[in-house]
Amino acid sequence: MRLRILGAAAGGGLPQWNCGCRNCADARDGRIPSMTQSSVAVSADGLTWVVLNASPDIRAQMQAEPALHPQSLRGTPMGAVILTNGDIDHIAGLLTLREGTPFALHGTKATLAILDEPVFRVLDRSVVRFLPIRLDEPFSPVEGLTVTAFAVPGKVALFLEEEEPDTAAMGEQTVGLRLEDDDSVVFYIPGCARVTDDLRRQLDGADLLLFDGTVWQDEEMRRTGTGTKTGARMGHVPMSGPDGSLARLADFAGRRVYIHINNTNPVLQPASAERAEVAAAGWSLAFDGMEITT
Ligand SMILES: [Zn+2]
Repeated sequence: MRLRILGAAAGGGLPQWNCGCRNCADARDGRIPSMTQSSVAVSADGLTWVVLNASPDIRAQMQAEPALHPQSLRGTPMGAVILTNGDIDHIAGLLTLREGTPFALHGTKATLAILDEPVFRVLDRSVVRFLPIRLDEPFSPVEGLTVTAFAVPGKVALFLEEEEPDTAAMGEQTVGLRLEDDDSVVFYIPGCARVTDDLRRQLDGADLLLFDGTVWQDEEMRRTGTGTKTGARMGHVPMSGPDGSLARLADFAGRRVYIHINNTNPVLQPASAERAEVAAAGWSLAFDGMEITT
């Protein structure tokens, strides 16, 4: 399977437009690489691609990735888009994918319901096929690739929140994806509020895991002075701590890559203790343009 990391950052990207934190300032000055928002392209044959989540940066991401350039006067090698939830960093790019080129759009019913808003009528439904995903039922978005979506602990999109949401609910609002071709099994889980025993069992034996690297610790936004929300409140398990992904996924035997990394995360500093700890545990960090073949 071939994967291209189109965007390795969480919502806001790196640098985020309104943020002057150390990471954002360093990215703005070119001291650390900038990152666009959350998206991955995947292909079994290297010809037809599936885009996992449509980031607000999708136009620039497609320009930067030759595999996604049109092969004819009008058209795209992108056969399908799959959405893992309704977050802005995962759906706003759909507004760029208008212009009447056919592709299939897969999401759970709950996520596709968000696209009933009038603005998304720019996607002509006689051209773009809206296909509901059923949890735990495999489907084939393009030739040679089988995908299964499954519930992971998560919350509804921020703009749908009313009062106090259940931040680790199991259901259609946040899914992980299991991708399989003839050669390998890959998991893509950019948002996950908790690493449950069930999830650990499910990952067993996979070749590659692309996992939620949003925050290093729960209180990160408060500590960096950039906000007051905890990782848990945003629906993201931290990397560190006894219940963090480093500890809870230590037994995973395949290749491990953090993705959906927030601009506040100290692992983005190459010389940080946190970066060293992540590397020592066998994880790497996704970056824009990263190519992975499994
Ligand atoms: Zn920042």
